[in-house]
Amino acid sequence: MTATLLHLALSLSLSSCGAPPGPAPVLEVDSRLAAQSSLFERGVRAAGEGVWVASGFGLANSILLEAPGGVVIVDTMSGRRQAEAVLAAFRETTGLPSPEKPVRAIILTHHHSDHVFGGGVFVESALESAVESAVENAGGTSPVAAPPVYAHATTSQEIDRVVNALSDALYLRSMRMFGQFLPAASVANAGIGPTLDYEPSDLTLARPTHVVEERLDISVAGLDLTLVHAPGESSDQLFVWLPKSKTLLAGDNIYRAFPNLYTIRGTAYRDVRQWVASLDTMRDLGAEVLVPSHTSPVAGKEAIAELLTAYRDAIQYIHDQTVRGINRGATAEELVAEIQLPPHLADHPWLAETYGTVAWSVRAIFDGYLGWFDGRGAHLDPLSAEDRSLRLSAALEDGRPLAEQAKSALASGDVRWAAELADHWLRLKPKSKAARETLAAALEEQGKVHPSANGRHYLLSQAAEIRGELKIPPTPRTEVSDEFVDSLAIGPFMEALPVRLKAEKALDRDTVVHFHFPDVEEHYTIHLRHGVAEVRHRAPAKADLSITVDAKIWKRIAFGKRSPIAAVASGELKTGGGLFAVVGFLNLFER
Ligand SMILES: [Zn+2]
Repeated sequence: MTATLLHLALSLSLSSCGAPPGPAPVLEVDSRLAAQSSLFERGVRAAGEGVWVASGFGLANSILLEAPGGVVIVDTMSGRRQAEAVLAAFRETTGLPSPEKPVRAIILTHHHSDHVFGGGVFVESALESAVESAVENAGGTSPVAAPPVYAHATTSQEIDRVVNALSDALYLRSMRMFGQFLPAASVANAGIGPTLDYEPSDLTLARPTHVVEERLDISVAGLDLTLVHAPGESSDQLFVWLPKSKTLLAGDNIYRAFPNLYTIRGTAYRDVRQWVASLDTMRDLGAEVLVPSHTSPVAGKEAIAELLTAYRDAIQYIHDQTVRGINRGATAEELVAEIQLPPHLADHPWLAETYGTVAWSVRAIFDGYLGWFDGRGAHLDPLSAEDRSLRLSAALEDGRPLAEQAKSALASGDVRWAAELADHWLRLKPKSKAARETLAAALEEQGKVHPSANGRHYLLSQAAEIRGELKIPPTPRTEVSDEFVDSLAIGPFMEALPVRLKAEKALDRDTVVHFHFPDVEEHYTIHLRHGVAEVRHRAPAKADLSITVDAKIWKRIAFGKRSPIAAVASGELKTGGGLFAVVGFLNLFER
């Protein structure tokens, strides 16, 4: 159903009652979510020398940077009303922007509506200052130019996509997600800000005029800034770095809540590995002030380093353990039930699930890599929603046990329903031969008449596997020729290690391992940190374990073509930590 039809259906169902619905009831708010509200007190606060943050005026923060000859505004709120309130509050607290120090540039950290749709207000403020000074200084004859608006090269088209192609679906789902139409008393806050408070009549965009590809160093009115592309919460995300004051404006790649690795209002896959890489780029800066575009700033080099590390570890943990489960053949449903953050991350004050959740993230990562099909034949060509509702209703009325109804469905040729019921049956009774046979037969019947060769083969293979007639061997890595293995680069081998980590065995480990590959003269660091393996393409400052081995040999070890013990015995693999340390380390990873 299109969103327009849905609107129509909703309004018809409402009008059929004769009167508009009464207000939705006020419902109690979860205490953890309620506690978040203290972060969103409305006001302008100093975050560091010449850095001012307006928060509590809308979902996002707007940030004012004072330069010797003007101000820079980073993020512009979601509409005119919010932006005007922020501008007035900046003036009241700081006296800025002023005729002497007007807005000299605007930076949009990304395209989301809570950051871009108040932009016009700051442009107008700059133009007014320019007109005033032109009148004073030159009798009003000099040309007046709008300030430059910096954003990533794709931000403009991302804004257009949201405004046009997907607007109906995203609007409806956003309004639900932000509780825009709930009674105010039911809405404690929006998780990362007080409220979205979106008003379509109020949008005023300052379209980007200057784009950033990967990195751009600029000086605005005497203030040096570096803008860095840092894909994460969105693919066009930027962070802003002030090298002199070591201040990091992180955009939406970190805020005081578990990150929205997936947003339920609907989004394309957010590449969480890139998100982690972006956080690592930020960690390397050694920031002394961190100003996110939502929730509160943080000061102190050590506190910021700890925070960025915990945040990136949480994201990597969920990513790696989901991919590990995917390789084992688990479904998204099974992984959601299984994967939780380890306690030190779950209890971290910046990782409470008051915005994103672990469960949604696991599903998004599964879907991002493998798409909608979970791998179980019963879910390949499921019944239509209506057919399933009809059969479910009939089955509940029928009242016979699941097993009986699965067998009956198969006998009557209702093979999709039989597969669905038998799939549940087998999950509940994994040792039941009858459940196996019923599911296998239902899949086989579907496979035999499937028009797609892919569908046919998948279903017939899985039916035979379920019956125990077929066992597909594990990926035949050892059969790959040495010549082929030699032709592969070492980097991807190292980058693939973390998704094989048996996290549950590494929760109490904090170990730095240095890999040196002399034949290609490359160094890697693997920091095993409480259930997460961070891989960096560089030598560590200090290692607990060092391994020197030619990349050529290591790749063969990784392919199972060579035993690490034999490599140590032959002197091909040298280690400062002894054979047991190397084997102990390797045993923390799936083969
Ligand atoms: Zn935002």
